[in-house]
Amino acid sequence: MTTMIRKENLKTPLRWAQVGGGKGSQVGCFHRDAAHRDDNYKLVAGAFDIDAERGLRFGVDELGLDADRCYPDYKTMFDTEAKREDGIQVVSITTPNSTHYEIARSAIEHNLHVICEKPLTFTAEESLELKELAKQHNRVFGVTYGYSSYPTVAQAREMVQRGDIGKIRVIHMQFSHGFHAARVEDNDPGLQWRVTKKASGPTYVLGDCGTHPLQMARMITGLEIDKICCMRRSFVGTRELEDDGHVMVQYKGGAYGTLWASAVAVGHVHNQRIEIIGEKGTLQWWDEHPNQLMYAPINEPFRPLDRAMSYLYEEARFERIGAGHPEGLYDAWANMYRNMALAMAAADSDDQATKASIIYPNIDDAIEGVRFLEACAESADNESKWVTL
Ligand code: NAD
Repeated sequence: MTTMIRKENLKTPLRWAQVGGGKGSQVGCFHRDAAHRDDNYKLVAGAFDIDAERGLRFGVDELGLDADRCYPDYKTMFDTEAKREDGIQVVSITTPNSTHYEIARSAIEHNLHVICEKPLTFTAEESLELKELAKQHNRVFGVTYGYSSYPTVAQAREMVQRGDIGKIRVIHMQFSHGFHAARVEDNDPGLQWRVTKKASGPTYVLGDCGTHPLQMARMITGLEIDKICCMRRSFVGTRELEDDGHVMVQYKGGAYGTLWASAVAVGHVHNQRIEIIGEKGTLQWWDEHPNQLMYAPINEPFRPLDRAMSYLYEEARFERIGAGHPEGLYDAWANMYRNMALAMAAADSDDQATKASIIYPNIDDAIEGVRFLEACAESADNESKWVTL
């Protein structure tokens, strides 16, 4: 069985750059923390901001980079770095959704490994094109579905793959919060782009939140979606895209399930949950208590399985600070970034077997996410008809 979370590190850090993730951005600091946690990457360059001057000041004053490696845009960065002997080897793309495709494409053409934010692209066709390009260039393409790198999720995966809960019957996926229950976007640029088609793509909350448990279910069960049926709505009516969406999911092989994504669930904070019900047992995972996986074998009550305990499968026994001390999202992201770095090193030494054996959220996960979102939009906009993926 393949170890999900690897423990070794690289001897020499990869020379790393970021596009986006500038001052005040939501997700930029997650990437920087995750990349630097195990010294597998060293930030040496960036095009951090749509505003070139602000990006330069951020890179120099707050990140301590050389001014000549803080670039006004990604094209200048890729071209200039390609000419340096110590040029960048990997780039993380942490910009709004509408920009991912072009930047990722250009990065691979400059022979860079790519770590990109989600949803990856607006269309599945674009994502498939990136996959093919990355394959041609022997580049690793990671996509930052960071929640799936918690050790408790690794335990869930092992339990499902070893048959502990039997054949899967039902999967319930949820990611609901209440931060956007009122029209708050006037003072929030990060939300303004998220609720418009031009910058966000075919969906808002289904893509922003819903694709996280979707990817987690895929990683744990390996099941593929056959078809879906979706209802969605903008309850804050001035939004172009939905702030709440419900999806029924039919998997290949007989399992079915539901996915609910919401930004208007008053009282919910970070209510990402996944429940997997099999013929012999049930697993529940909740983002607000990520150090525990709940498990009920048939005819017995639920019990918590705690991170870092000796009763877990070896594949899930990875910890940074020992049992009992809570680990959190930064740790999960660091696990993900580490696995991606090891895959990149394997690709660079043309060790395809090792590269293929390392598990991290990858472009296939991203392609399923984009297909799912395209299908959701098509279904919801056509009286919730069933759409095959
Ligand atoms: P944000 O609006 O807070 O920040 C975007 C940053 O990108 C800003 O610094 C902006 O100046 C910069 N930028 C925009 N266009 C650029 C360009 N062409 N070149 C260089 N910089 C540019 O957005 P965010 O919330 O950080 O989201 C960014 C991406 O991350 C989105 O795709 C979003 O869906 C994703 N995201 C993922 C997670 C996760 O858990 N994986 C969490 C939050 C956001």
